[in-house]
Amino acid sequence: MTGTGSSGVAQSVGGGEGAASPVGSGEGAGPSVGGGTGAASGGRPAPGARPNPVALRTGYHSPQVEVETRLNTNEAPEPPPQQFLDELAVVVSRLAANRYPDRQATALRAAIAGHHGVEPEQVFCANGSNEVLQCLFLAYGGTGRSAVIFEPTYALHSHIARLTATEVITGARDESFRIDVARARDLLARVAARRTSEPSITMLCSPNNPTGGAEAPETVAALATSVPGLLVVDEAYGQFAPTSALDLVAEKPGVVVVRTFSKTWAMAALRLGYLVAHPEIVAACEQVALPYHLDAVKQAAGVLALGYEPEMRQRLARLLEQKNHVAAALAALDIEFWPSDANFILFRTPGLESADVWQRLVEHSVLVRDVSGWPALEGCLRVTIGTAAENTRFLRALEAVLAECGRA
Ligand code: PMP
Repeated sequence: MTGTGSSGVAQSVGGGEGAASPVGSGEGAGPSVGGGTGAASGGRPAPGARPNPVALRTGYHSPQVEVETRLNTNEAPEPPPQQFLDELAVVVSRLAANRYPDRQATALRAAIAGHHGVEPEQVFCANGSNEVLQCLFLAYGGTGRSAVIFEPTYALHSHIARLTATEVITGARDESFRIDVARARDLLARVAARRTSEPSITMLCSPNNPTGGAEAPETVAALATSVPGLLVVDEAYGQFAPTSALDLVAEKPGVVVVRTFSKTWAMAALRLGYLVAHPEIVAACEQVALPYHLDAVKQAAGVLALGYEPEMRQRLARLLEQKNHVAAALAALDIEFWPSDANFILFRTPGLESADVWQRLVEHSVLVRDVSGWPALEGCLRVTIGTAAENTRFLRALEAVLAECGRA
């Protein structure tokens, strides 16, 4: 059965408002980092770090167990072309390693700008899109400021908010895990009525991780006119989806589109992400990024990678074909799953404990992500689409697990 998860949303819009504590409110609540046994320093404990109100929520980190088939972190299953790696090796061999890299990342920003048909001044690059998001929160969030985040979504959004002392205002999604514009506007109006300052950031993740759906362009456009402050559209999985918010950037000065080289470009190890936005937003991010944060190797790698767009599109086409295959197989197994516009599928095996299914899959040497502890995702697992062989391995393992549990 292809389900849309009628019980998928447990929160009401605004119900969780303020539920996530800003930094500081957790004083004393958690263990202090660094207060170890001091075994290496003659029995004296190391100075304690600040109490840890900003730890990632339980269940975020996917256990890195030894398995043959890893489908838990939404990476590209295929490496980039060998020729790209060879060219990169030549660049590295000629690198003036004693010199700092180009602080403006001139060539990389020009290449990304050319790729999207925007100006280099509209592009800001960082070490993965996580660092892009962190810079946005450092520049636009902070003490006394707040961000609207619609859960369930990518855990790093609220985590980075907390890291930067930005208050989190939690909104919910509808039954299909999409954003309901009317309810979102209602939330914003209630926040505006109750507070002196409006949220400076509203986060959208489209396609959304870990639920997989992309927002309709009308939803993004409507929010772009409704939100105060920035509308940050995290398009880490943007190339898998039929639409993008990139066109809105020219129309609405507050719209920021964040992208990564980690997924479709198959460069997760190189840590490169970027945003496309109004030049003033780029300038604000540059103010908070550390000097020379973008090393010369990744700057070169990004430029080189963009020269291999046809190969990227071919990998993408193979992946989309595989996703359709996995979805059809899940349907045939009578597994409840959510339609995905990304390179992963959220699914649930009603009647079976998700932790048990996860463990049994590991015993079959297949690793997926247990997201059952995330807001509103009780019983859910997420599988990344792999190569044809990896997907077959996953589907066979799942079938075997269902049989073991008497569901065959
Ligand atoms: N945004 C989303 C929605 C993601 O799923 C991820 C990676 N899992 C990222 C951002 C961060 O990607 P990276 O830092 O590798 O660019």
